[in-house]
Amino acid sequence: MQHARQQGVDRLDAQLLLSDAVQQGHAWLLAHGSDALSPAQQTRFLTGLTRRAAGEPLAYILGDKAFFGLTLAVSPDVLIPRPDTETLVEWALELLPAQTASTVLDLGTGSGAIALAIQHHRPQAKVTAVDASEAALRVAQANAQNLNLPVTFRHGSWLTPVAGQRFELIVSNPPYIAEGDPHMAALGFEPRQALTAGPDGLDDLRQIIAAAPAHLHPGGWLLLEHGYDQPVAVAQLLTAHGFSNVSTRFDLGGQPRCTGGQRPA
Ligand code: GLN
Repeated sequence: MQHARQQGVDRLDAQLLLSDAVQQGHAWLLAHGSDALSPAQQTRFLTGLTRRAAGEPLAYILGDKAFFGLTLAVSPDVLIPRPDTETLVEWALELLPAQTASTVLDLGTGSGAIALAIQHHRPQAKVTAVDASEAALRVAQANAQNLNLPVTFRHGSWLTPVAGQRFELIVSNPPYIAEGDPHMAALGFEPRQALTAGPDGLDDLRQIIAAAPAHLHPGGWLLLEHGYDQPVAVAQLLTAHGFSNVSTRFDLGGQPRCTGGQRPA
């Protein structure tokens, strides 16, 4: 632990890396704090510390991340699910009646986080998840299999793979950071194509909003995550494409994080 502190790794991260190296929980660590590590455990722990000290996100080192009560495998092929995105899932669940076979589409599913959280809480829903990255889809499919959730996966860009299909709800956490945003410096381990979208960060949101009406049943909803400084732009785009009941929801940090609207009935 002293070694961890010297490398500048914070205490909780070091404890989680140690737990991972010995494959034991926190209670075991407290009771066995002075046990020696086996050589294999020591190597695993030190490798983890070195990676963390170099700035790699803990989730990639451990290989998983908790999201909305589910444990999801993650790799550098997918964005690490953020607690902010739970706002989008909560909104989606409010719109989806229980015990109903609602049709739901998740665009740019990445690890599958949003689609799997919705499917877990609405077992009757028919959830489809799309991603342009085959590597990301492999991660999402493995998560669906581990969690035994019957999400359907499709490969391709935004709405292209669901040509001719309509849904009651479309959700997406697309890339929305502006290219050249200084914030990107801290996100260098995550896939760039999951993060940035043109000079103002709105390129993908524009495409999705323009294409979504043709894929929504009358009365269907489109819910989008976006940057803290984009709620007005997203609301304007939704209104310009005929959506009604447009509103914005805030994340746990108090930032405007999701904007959505309804295709008129
Ligand atoms: N919320 C993420 C971040 O700012 C970005 C996620 C995204 O681009 N969809 O770290």
